[in-house]
Amino acid sequence: MPSDITVTILGSGTCVPSLQRSTCAVLVEIGTSKTLLDSGAGTMRRLLESGKTIFELTHIFYSHFHPDHSGELVPLLFATKYPDNRRRRNPLTICAGSGLVKFFDGLKRVYGRMIELDEGMLNLFELDTGAADAVRFDEFTVASLPVKHSPESLAYRITAGGGRSVVYTGDSDICENLVTIARDADLLICESALPDALKVDGHLTPSLAGEIATRANVGRLVLTHFYPECDQVDIAKECRRTYAGPLVLARDLMNFAL
Ligand SMILES: [Zn+2]
Ligand SMILES: [Zn+2]
Repeated sequence: MPSDITVTILGSGTCVPSLQRSTCAVLVEIGTSKTLLDSGAGTMRRLLESGKTIFELTHIFYSHFHPDHSGELVPLLFATKYPDNRRRRNPLTICAGSGLVKFFDGLKRVYGRMIELDEGMLNLFELDTGAADAVRFDEFTVASLPVKHSPESLAYRITAGGGRSVVYTGDSDICENLVTIARDADLLICESALPDALKVDGHLTPSLAGEIATRANVGRLVLTHFYPECDQVDIAKECRRTYAGPLVLARDLMNFAL
């Protein structure tokens, strides 16, 4: 049976330069749609490594505007204008929380026409304070809820026509909305920035991510957004303090079929 959703981790890392972990990005493919969740530095290169190009992208959902999640938007739009025969044929829809239009206007003040696509080829969709009621696109629906990190931060739940769903937390400290949006999801891609002993405000740890996954009863938990400190400890063991279900530690270009 063909899968409803294919998920590829494009970047499992952070702002810290790494040869193993590119900055935050996930690719979600449903039918003919190809959706990016965040686009940190290195996203376009990882897309090529996964056999895709920027011209095939239909949607980008930003969890928030921190550079490790949004940094490759400008290079991506600039590259889209490069005049070769693979140019974009369908519009690109960009969704994010409150402030997306202001954020993009700021980029346009700096880069001007270098990031402007042809008329009708770029749609901006501001989700304000989150849309618990799903927004419907052609091949999937997306729900979003505010999470505890920055004012515009959202977690997303993407559900395919067949009912399968993937949830992406972006960056967040522990909060009830994470449990709500991840409830019974087939796959939860959850940030786990630092080990339990190095917890910082605004981010999760392996055991906190596990707590969310357990309470939400997810089918599978993928931990990602690893700062280098995570590679010095047994992340899986820390997560097992609170979660007994299927667990994966993200690596770049890892694939999941739901
Ligand atoms: Zn952040
Ligand atoms: Zn981050």
